[in-house]
Amino acid sequence: MSSANNKTRPTPARRLRTMHETLAQAYGPQHWWPAKTPFEVILGAYLTQNTAWKAVERSLANLKNAGAVTLEGIRALPVEKLQELIRPSGFVTRKAQAVKAFVALVDEEFRGSLARVAATPAGPLRTRLLGLPGVGPETADAILLYAFGKAVPMADEYLRRIVERHRLISPAPNHNRKGYEALTSLTRDAFAADSPNRHADLYNEFHALVVAVGKAHCGRTAKCGGCPLAGDLQRYGPKVL
Ligand code: SF4
Repeated sequence: MSSANNKTRPTPARRLRTMHETLAQAYGPQHWWPAKTPFEVILGAYLTQNTAWKAVERSLANLKNAGAVTLEGIRALPVEKLQELIRPSGFVTRKAQAVKAFVALVDEEFRGSLARVAATPAGPLRTRLLGLPGVGPETADAILLYAFGKAVPMADEYLRRIVERHRLISPAPNHNRKGYEALTSLTRDAFAADSPNRHADLYNEFHALVVAVGKAHCGRTAKCGGCPLAGDLQRYGPKVL
């Protein structure tokens, strides 16, 4: 039973907005994404699928040493060599093909210019990215938000755990695309009252903060002791799953 009176209980979106503030105060600015160029962000978004970031860093270091953290560099690499360089991140056949497919898209539909890709409105660009091999909604949104600065919220396993454990949404029986869109929809609602000019920055920071609290506290097992979000759980319940 929740301790909060139903009449005063804030909406899930309102709670999530407050949780963002709590995390921002606890952790400070996150300075995401940890990459120097938009194309490095894109490579990272592909390589991090089902892989810890430490492994991605090793792959990116290999690519940097080979001078291949650019469109031109990836274009010039034979796919077998690309697979070898990204081996630390695993799933090399699928990931190398996916990265090559992205570069082919830029070459064939945007005359080899990432700036032209970036100038495309978020909606059509998201649809186009989702049509590429190896690109699900999380990868597409990571590219849109962090490489191109579009006001597109992104979700991940950490956010799913947090909002399910705080019962901001019902736990999904399987984690399909519909479940993903429910998370991004809740995030959009949480920031709906903020100026649209701030949405890209807020989504950027929100996801980074979710990853920070997820890594520190809300992994497979919830470690609520000392978690900045424990106050929300105590106030509104319910129990941790
Ligand atoms: S660790 Fe506990 S308090 Fe922290 S986000 Fe997860 S469920 Fe909430």
